Amino acid sequence: MSELHDECGVFGIYGNDGSMDIVEETYLAMYTLQHRGQVGAGIAVNDNGNMVYHKDFGMIPEALPESEVSRLGNGNIALGHVKYSSGEAVDHQNLAPLVMRYIKGQLALCMNGAITNYQVLRDDLNQGAAIFQSNGDTEIVAYLVARARLNSETIEEAVKKAVAQLKGAYAIVMMSPSKLIGVRDPLGVRPLCVGKLGNSYVITSESCVFDSMGGEFIRDVKPGEMIVIDSDGFHSYEAEKSEKTALCLFEYVYFSRPDSVVDGVSVAMARQRAGMLLAKQHPVDADIVFGVPDCGIESAIGYSTESGIRYCTGLVKNKYIGRAFNNRKNNSEYLLRIKLNALKYNIAGKRVIVIDDSMLKGVTSKHIVDLLRQAGASEVHMRIASPLFKNPCYLTSDTTPKEDLIAAKKSVEEICEYIGADSLGFLSAESLPKIAEGCKLGFCDACFTGNYPVDVSHTSRNDKYSQKIK
Ligand code: SF4
Repeated sequence: MSELHDECGVFGIYGNDGSMDIVEETYLAMYTLQHRGQVGAGIAVNDNGNMVYHKDFGMIPEALPESEVSRLGNGNIALGHVKYSSGEAVDHQNLAPLVMRYIKGQLALCMNGAITNYQVLRDDLNQGAAIFQSNGDTEIVAYLVARARLNSETIEEAVKKAVAQLKGAYAIVMMSPSKLIGVRDPLGVRPLCVGKLGNSYVITSESCVFDSMGGEFIRDVKPGEMIVIDSDGFHSYEAEKSEKTALCLFEYVYFSRPDSVVDGVSVAMARQRAGMLLAKQHPVDADIVFGVPDCGIESAIGYSTESGIRYCTGLVKNKYIGRAFNNRKNNSEYLLRIKLNALKYNIAGKRVIVIDDSMLKGVTSKHIVDLLRQAGASEVHMRIASPLFKNPCYLTSDTTPKEDLIAAKKSVEEICEYIGADSLGFLSAESLPKIAEGCKLGFCDACFTGNYPVDVSHTSRNDKYSQKIK
């Protein structure tokens, strides 16, 4: 149960033959992406150049009520977005998709990720008397595309010029009056993939969307690639080059759903491998092993497979509150108790191994150990299926400050004492890439190692910290 906040989820569909209710398809796809963000959601639909949208706070049922979704009508292209929260208040203007009018008509955009040179770009745009409604990255990208379009023959050319100015991590999906466009950052930090639903093309954050829609996964968008879908079909362009790639390893640890395949690697398998490695690196005698739902479960299965220790259910999660609870400032024991309970019948009198996906602040881990002791566990051994999280991430939508990261301040022994476990073990940083065996990309592991794949010294989010560039 990661204390890292969720990522955003993006979705775009180009309905080729007009036979499909693409607003309805987008609405349903938003449910599949809900795990990537629960603070807000939005849909924009494009009916031959006329774009209408609705976006609001909350999970899908609150943000996109039936009355508003039906008001959107139908069209030939649509975008959908679910928004993360860093725990801070989010303005309505920061919700997506962002729909704007400019010299070439309308343009709609949504994205996942973080632009690390945000402040530099914003200062530059401000010098040109730009007027901003939000403080988000999406509006910066929209401005850059609109500005570049003035001196470009095509929207493709304008998008290429715009993304050439971006640094950081992004998966962008946008629509012009006649085209659906997806761009993945040149490092490939954030995932993006393309597939088909009947005659319609879909670009989205995770492959599980195609399964839930009854569609077909075509492939991952390559790092630095721009995919354009129009009335002539599917086109691929190189938008930006990079010598290296740096897929976010946390996509396998926590962000993505286990039924997704990210850059050729099953997320469920990656988590099981992490559990198997943990069993080798931190063995301990115990009666049962179980995972913290949801992201620790696959790793617990891996630990059980490798160690031979019986796997069973030890914790029950309230499925009806979602990960949005992580976003509440008041992470009190009362709220945690609503979220998670121990299964006493399985635990009482047992030596237990509990596996969680990650540990940021340590508050949730401490609560889990307390719960298990109260349920009668005779020993509680905690294992974390990722390395010590010591450095803030500047490449996701969330940046938990370094002073809040327990591993930045305490040794493993001190953390173990703080959470009250009998023993504690983290996956080693060196072995983390092994969980994504088969992936042809390089990886970002900066939150564990401090080796950032881009210069993050200009982000407005990091001035308290020193970073090195890989
Ligand atoms: S710093 Fe960590 S969470 Fe952020 S992009 Fe890199 S691996 Fe992912």
